[in-house]
Amino acid sequence: MLKIEDRYGRTFRTLRVSLLQHCNLGCVYCVAGEAELKEANAVGDSLGVEQLLAIIRRLKEQLPLDTVRLTGGEPLLYPGLASLIRGIRAAGIDAVRLTTNGFLLERMAPALKEAGLEALNVSLDAVEEEVFARMSRRHSVERIIRGIDAAVAAGLRVKINTVMMKGMNDSQLLPLLDLAFARGLTIRFLEVMAMGHLHDHAGRYLVTQDELLGRIGEHHRITPEPRAESATARYWTTETGHRFGIIANESEPFCRDCDRLRLDSSGHIYGCLSSNQPIGLGLSETAAEWDEKLKLALAQKQELRFVGSDLSMLHIGG
Ligand code: SAM
Repeated sequence: MLKIEDRYGRTFRTLRVSLLQHCNLGCVYCVAGEAELKEANAVGDSLGVEQLLAIIRRLKEQLPLDTVRLTGGEPLLYPGLASLIRGIRAAGIDAVRLTTNGFLLERMAPALKEAGLEALNVSLDAVEEEVFARMSRRHSVERIIRGIDAAVAAGLRVKINTVMMKGMNDSQLLPLLDLAFARGLTIRFLEVMAMGHLHDHAGRYLVTQDELLGRIGEHHRITPEPRAESATARYWTTETGHRFGIIANESEPFCRDCDRLRLDSSGHIYGCLSSNQPIGLGLSETAAEWDEKLKLALAQKQELRFVGSDLSMLHIGG
């Protein structure tokens, strides 16, 4: 295996695969409205299970890959998800994880566990139905909570992810913390990123890490944990032994040891969320050609911080 590494010692160890652009929610940070969602849901040509597995096996041969995270769009809408998970495990990657909105999780959780899924992140932006609907343009809090409970019952490691947006769902910080802590789950709050239709005005919705810590600190005595290498989140523990995290993309960028490579639903790779330049991989190309493309992708990584992107995470994968 040729060593693909940049001058900061960064390489690709984690692959995030966007399985499809379709989604059953219409979250405000992903799409501007129903029209944009409809457009994404009309895109037809996601890669099939065998094509994806062929790409993942080749990447595993050429990179020190140890983790694959499946995302989208909404990955639970992808046909053949369980066989894909089985295939990735059979390729020698044990850490197969998923990010989902949880809408279909209640009935799918046991099969995902059985297929070899290790862990999942469930996105949940509110506990109050009205606020949830403002964030996602759908009504489904109870259903998602049932999905979270079913995943835990199936033996999956579950974390909750919440994008905090000023004036939209920031009233939900403590109710969400309570919901997670009552279940012994870790919850992570994400600073909103300047992506897709929010590219030029995400700042107006930003709730910073300091604001989050200030508000949580009024209710809990909190202690920071050391940051793990290449982690997106920093974590804190409370006096009651509960744990929460913050993904502070704006306040405390984590590009310097980023190890993520992204594959979109039509087979393009990206080395960075800031990059709008898709790099196509062909299965008929040689290992040397893939090495060159992987180096190009690695060179897309920002030195210090995310600089914004016109692409929504719905397309590039969250
Ligand atoms: N549908 C799945 C879900 O809801 O988890 C997976 C894909 S979705 C794009 C994954 C996650 O990306 C979202 O839940 C949210 O946490 C994150 N995300 C998307 N756009 C974002 C933005 N502009 N800023 C911060 N996080 C964002």
